Amino acid sequence: MLKDRLIAAEKIGQIVSTLADEIDADLEGRDPVFICVLKGAVYFFTALTQKLHRDVVVDFIQASSYGATTESSGTVTLIKDVTVDIAGKDVYVVEDIVDTGLTLADVVALLKARHPRTVQVVALLSKPSRRKVEIPLDFLGLEIEDHFVVGYGLDFAERFRNLPEIWDLVPEPEGT
Ligand code: 5GP
Repeated sequence: MLKDRLIAAEKIGQIVSTLADEIDADLEGRDPVFICVLKGAVYFFTALTQKLHRDVVVDFIQASSYGATTESSGTVTLIKDVTVDIAGKDVYVVEDIVDTGLTLADVVALLKARHPRTVQVVALLSKPSRRKVEIPLDFLGLEIEDHFVVGYGLDFAERFRNLPEIWDLVPEPEGT
């Protein structure tokens, strides 16, 4: 079921360190709240925020996921909201992967309605060829081709999240 190892753990570590350096440089003068988009971003989020050189507020939000398919439903439901007040704050939304962009567009719109000072997006991976809505990615780890990937927080039907590297997944055909 797991096809190819697409990104080794060491490479992920390098990507996260580079992003942390870029974000560190951006944090000057800000009042930051880092929001992890559950569940997929959780490994990325903890690694990234621990590499920052100042303390930041962290919180969590959860939107609907694909369930047991590899296609987005296109309808996003809020499952868990943030608990901190983000009014006047500098929000960094941390996402695992941006595919169609629908999830992130909805999450960003929802957060902007609470009057933060700024909202920026941090994404580990992006599949630009799949985009349905344009959404600016302020900090991006890596662009990938149209693969369905698992590991480092990313799941297929809730499996494979705890793999330390990122794999290209090909589901087995029915009945095999
Ligand atoms: P979008 O709304 O951009 O289509 O999809 C966003 C969400 O779908 C991501 O946060 C992630 O949970 C899930 N997703 C998108 N592409 C992949 C993928 O290649 N692998 C996995 N495991 N999840 C994905």
